[in-house]
Amino acid sequence: MTTVCNAPNCAKTVPQTPGKRARLYCDANCRNKAHAARKANPAAVPTIPAQADTPPVDMTLADVVKRDLELGERLETLPGQLALALAVRIGSPGTTASSVATLSKELRVLMAEALAGTAPKQGDLLDEFSERLARKAASA
Ligand SMILES: [Zn+2]
Repeated sequence: MTTVCNAPNCAKTVPQTPGKRARLYCDANCRNKAHAARKANPAAVPTIPAQADTPPVDMTLADVVKRDLELGERLETLPGQLALALAVRIGSPGTTASSVATLSKELRVLMAEALAGTAPKQGDLLDEFSERLARKAASA
């Protein structure tokens, strides 16, 4: 199986080895190019998330939010519950790409509020997840 190089302005195919981690770029040059482009404009370049940070496919945004809140023991708080409600709303099928973008922003604020003072290291997964949702919604 092959995929297309993820670097901007490159349409070369990338051969994939089944069972191995997916290669995103056709060569090191493209990887560097994509890295630079992503740094300059994080929203513009779609990338396949690194495997280790990828939430399981059957996990919904609400699941991720709930898990983060539970980890921080903030599920039973007002911002925690609001964040959860928002996550459910974002994940519901009728939500448009533009509202996903707006709601995601609000969700991040609520999550920051809910998890204020708890151990860091939340957020990465959630960011990854909501970005992926936004991309999915944009391409639908
Ligand atoms: Zn390439």
